[in-house]
Parts: sequence; structure tokens; C-alpha cells
Amino acid sequence: MENKLEKIISLAKRRGFVYPGSEIYGGLAGTWDYGPLGAEMMHNIKEAWWKKFVSSRDDMYGIASSIIGPEQVWAASGHLEHFTDSLKKGKFNIMFKSKIGALKEETSNVYLRPELAQGMFVNFKNIIDSFHPKLPFGIAQIGRCFRNEISPRDFLFRVREFDLMEFEYFVREKDWEKYFEYWRKEMWNWIEDVGIDKNKASELEVAPENRAHYSKRTIDFEYDFPFGKKELYGLAYRTDHDLKNHKLDYYDEDTKERFVPHVIEPTFGVGRTILTILDSAYTEDELGGEKRVFLKFKPSVAPVKVAVFPLLKNKPELVNKAKEVYEMVKKEVQPVVFDDNGNIGKRYRRQDEIGTPFCVTIDFQTLDDNTITVRDRDTGKQERVKIEELCFILREKF
Ligand code: ATP
Repeated sequence: MENKLEKIISLAKRRGFVYPGSEIYGGLAGTWDYGPLGAEMMHNIKEAWWKKFVSSRDDMYGIASSIIGPEQVWAASGHLEHFTDSLKKGKFNIMFKSKIGALKEETSNVYLRPELAQGMFVNFKNIIDSFHPKLPFGIAQIGRCFRNEISPRDFLFRVREFDLMEFEYFVREKDWEKYFEYWRKEMWNWIEDVGIDKNKASELEVAPENRAHYSKRTIDFEYDFPFGKKELYGLAYRTDHDLKNHKLDYYDEDTKERFVPHVIEPTFGVGRTILTILDSAYTEDELGGEKRVFLKFKPSVAPVKVAVFPLLKNKPELVNKAKEVYEMVKKEVQPVVFDDNGNIGKRYRRQDEIGTPFCVTIDFQTLDDNTITVRDRDTGKQERVKIEELCFILREKF
């Protein structure tokens, strides 16, 4: 499809998914602001991730650590020395540096985190002291990271601040390959869960010279973006590099051994996930002899779940009935929108374009027999059902 990225950016802006950052002042390169639909989608993705990888598991500890870290953390992690832009290796460190404290003599250097992992490592001992976890276990978080990328580009793909979802999974050294394989499969399951086109995703075994300074094995999960095949997610075997440098270890109460655990790290960029889902979902087809654009989102990530329409806006009996149905549906799923603006065909197209899975219409027959139509976004087909059955049907579909 020609200019697919431009079409996605234009739709995202027009419909309120993503806007250029600080746009009324000419924009700030490498920043994008999420509008109501983008923010909702982002929330859905983070929630699904947290549920799958944290709250549904017994071996994962979720945290939310500070964005600002002292110089010592980044010296120990190796980022002060090694964290450079791939375009300009050697000189230019891409961490954002700042100073903390009001008085000059009291100030000290701090950095905005360029990755989440150090937050998990510096809390490793806290988690052990509070929860006494047995190996293997993980520490997870979702949060914002900052990188002074020399050349931000390709919409949400390369930006200067972005959210990551990530965990460090601590294992015995002898077990690292087993858990690397385990998380590799789980990452593929996640890709499927959120509606990323699996046929456009693939793995790249990263060559030693291209791996991060801490990694002994890395697989990049790549996606065939409109601007080429690029990294979507990463899976790294970080060895015992970080815990060792922070001088942390683990005591096994059962075997009475003290040792430094090794780490498997799956990492997921939120912005790249959203871009990938938009690309996977963007579809152009013809319906009823008319061209249309629609986003084939999985219901779980769709920013609007259901739209409710009265067939005509100047018939109070239809509008009142539609409002009743709207309130009823809202108790079942959220968000739901109510729209009585323009002809019904246009309203369907507007919802198709933002990926709303189902539209419910209240028409004259509703007033006679208490039935409504439920329209499926992908096929455009409508099914007539009883109002009392609607919630049950939606529960099944979601
Ligand atoms: P790249 O090679 O594309 O710069 P990286 O190897 O530096 O990425 P990691 O350090 O492994 O990436 O970061 C983990 C994840 O963070 C990536 O898989 C990606 O999803 C996301 N990510 C990294 N840099 C950016 C960025 N500048 N903008 C948006 N997301 C990013």
C-alpha cells in the first residue's frame, strides 16, 4: 500500500489517537502526544501486559521506580560509558543529564533513565527482604524512559521519550537457556494476543558485535514496518552483569548457597506496539460499493468498544430509547459512544475508521418489538437481536 505510514499518521492525528508534541509552537522533534483514543489504547495495552506478565503470575513482582537516578547507578550499569547512539558510536552519550539541588555546592549529577532495568536491579534487595522469593522470579515495571536520540524519526518508532514494559527474570546460571526459550514463546503469545500481524513479525539473532554491552545473547523481535524491517521488542540474556556491578547477590535458604543470579530480560516498547498494531489493523476495502478505511483492532485493544446510534436524531422516541440502551451497554463494557450526528452510513464509517468492533442501532422496529441491530465492523453485517440479549452477546464477544 502506497504511503501507508502517511495514511496512518494522518488518521491518527485527525481522529485523536496521536498528535505531534508541542504542535502549536511548531512541534518538538521526537515527541508525540497521545489523544483520547491513543491514550485509551495505550491504557488497554499496558493493562493487558500487566495482567499477563505480572498480576496473573505467582513469580512476578511489579514495581514503579524513580525516573531520576544518581550518577552511581549509571556508572555501575555501564550506561555512562557505553550508552551511545548507533549512528554516532563512541562520543555522544544519549542519556539526558540534569542536576539536582538548588545550591551550586549541593548539586549533583542525575540522569533520566534510558531503560527500566536499573530500577529493578536497585530494588532487588528490597524485594528479597520484603517477599523472600525463591528462584526463578521476576521484577517487572511499566514506565517512561528518555533517550536523546540524534535522529528521531518514523512517527512513534524512534522518539526521545517512550514507555517501556519490561521485566528482569532472575534464574540460576545453569537454567538461563531454558527460561530464555520459555519467554521467547510467551513473547510470541503476546504478539498474537494484542493483534499484531504475526506474518509481518520475525526474529533476528543479534550478532555479538551488535549486542548491548551487557548481553550474551539477544533476539530482536522485528516487524515489517512501512519503512522497513526493524526492532519491535528485545529478548536479552543479561548474564549476572548488573547484579554483580551493583554488588548484589542471592542467598538460597534451602541449599545454603550464596551466588549471583543470572537475568533474562524481555522488553516491550509501548509506542512501537501501538504503531505495529495500527499498521496490522489498517485496512482498506469496499463495502456496499463504497471505499472505506477501517482498523481491524482486537476488541481488547480497541479504544471504543461499542457505539450506540438512534436511526434518526429528530425522533425523540428513538433518541430516548437509544440513550437507555447506551446506559445499559456502558454498564457492561467501556468506553461506549453515543452518536446521532449525520446519516447512519457515515456514522458506521466513522466508527470503522477508529476500529470500534460493534455498532448498535435503535430503529423504528425497536419501538415495536424491543429488538436492535448489532453491526460487525469487519463484515459490515447486521444481526437483529432482543435488547435483553445484547449484554449477554457483548459479554461473549469481548
Ligand atoms: P534500537 O536499536 O531501535 O535503537 P535498542 O536496541 O536501543 O533499539 P533497547 O535498548 O533494546 O532498544 O530498548 C528496548 C525497547 O525499547 C525496544 O525494543 C523498543 O521497543 C523500545 N525503544 C528503544 N528505543 C526507542 C525509541 N527511541 N523510541 C521508541 N521506542 C524505543
